[in-house]
Amino acid sequence: MAEIHANDPELHPSSRIRIAVSMGDPNGIGPEILAKVLVDHAITDRIELIPVGSVSVLRHYMERVGQDGPEPYVEDVATDTEFELLPGRADPSAGRLAMHSVERAVEMCLEGRVDAMTTCPISKEVIAHAGFNFPGHTEFIAEKTGTGEVLMMMVSGSLRVGLVSAHIPLSRVAGAVTIESVQRTIGLMADSLRKDFGMERPKIAVLGLNPHAGDGGVLGNEERDVIVPAMAGLSVEAELTGPFPADGFFGSGKWKKVDGVVAMYHDQGLGPFKALSFGQGVNMTAGLPVVRTSPDHGTGFDIAGTDAADPSSLRAALILAAEVAERRKNALQSTGGPSTAEIEA
Ligand SMILES: [Zn+2]
Repeated sequence: MAEIHANDPELHPSSRIRIAVSMGDPNGIGPEILAKVLVDHAITDRIELIPVGSVSVLRHYMERVGQDGPEPYVEDVATDTEFELLPGRADPSAGRLAMHSVERAVEMCLEGRVDAMTTCPISKEVIAHAGFNFPGHTEFIAEKTGTGEVLMMMVSGSLRVGLVSAHIPLSRVAGAVTIESVQRTIGLMADSLRKDFGMERPKIAVLGLNPHAGDGGVLGNEERDVIVPAMAGLSVEAELTGPFPADGFFGSGKWKKVDGVVAMYHDQGLGPFKALSFGQGVNMTAGLPVVRTSPDHGTGFDIAGTDAADPSSLRAALILAAEVAERRKNALQSTGGPSTAEIEA
C-alpha cells in the first residue's frame, strides 16, 4: 500500500492537495471514519480535507474521537432541520443528506475549489427510498459530470482490478461479456493507468470467463468467440496478455507482474482483490473528469455509533486521490493546459 513519506517532494509539494470528502450516510460509519482521519496528522499535514455534509453530525463524532485543535471547516449541506442522528437506522432523510453531500462535492471539484473528491459509504437501499434512482455513487457522479463511460477500478498498491460486468445477477453475466464491453473496459483501464498512474505503456492482463478459460472450448466458448477477438481488435497503448484462467492467475502470483487486471464479473475480480488487500482496498472511478475515490466497504450499519469502525480504507482512498490529483495537475502544468481529450474524458 502507498504510504505517505514526510519528505517526499514529488508527492507533497508546498501547497497541499485539497480533497472534498462526502460524509456518506450519516447513520452509517462514514462520519465516524471521517472524524478519525480529520484527527490523523499524517493525513492532514499533507492533504487539506474539506468534509461535506452536516456540521452537527460531524461535530458529534469529532467530540467522540477527541478533536484537539480548532474545529475544521465543514461544507454544510444540511437543510433538513428534522434530521435526527440514529446510528444503524435506514432512514430516507439520511439518504437525502448523503446524496446532497455527494452532489456538493462534485460541484466543488467542477468549480475547482478542490482537486479531488473521496466519498464515504452510502446505502443503495436508503438512497432509493430517498428518491434517488441510482445504483450507487459511480452512476450518480457520472451523470452529474456528464460522463458517458466510466470504470469502477479497485486499487491496492500495485493490484488494480477493473470489471467488465459489475452489479448484475450471475445468470446475466455471460450475455454482458461482449466484444464492446471487453474493449471498453480495457480501454478505460489503459487510459487511467497512463493518465492517473503515470505509466507509459501499462501491462494489462485479461481474465477468461469460464473455468480454465474455456479449456479449448470444452468448458465454454466466450474466450474464443468474444475475449480473444476483443483483445486482438483493440488498438490501445498497452501490452495485453490473456485470457488467463482466473484461479491460476491469482494463485500463482501472475498478478504481481502486471499493472492492471480485467476481470469478467464482480466476484471473479473482487474475491481475490479483497483477500489480497487486507482492508486497505480503494474503489476509484476511472474515466471521470474529476478524481474520485472511496473506501471499498459499505455503511457498516451493524457497527455504526460504536466507535468500532476502521478508517484504514478511507485513509488509503485519500492518499490515492491525492496522488492521482497531483499527477493530473503536473500533467496540466507540463502541457500548459488541458488537452481537448482531457476535457472530454
Ligand atoms: Zn460490489
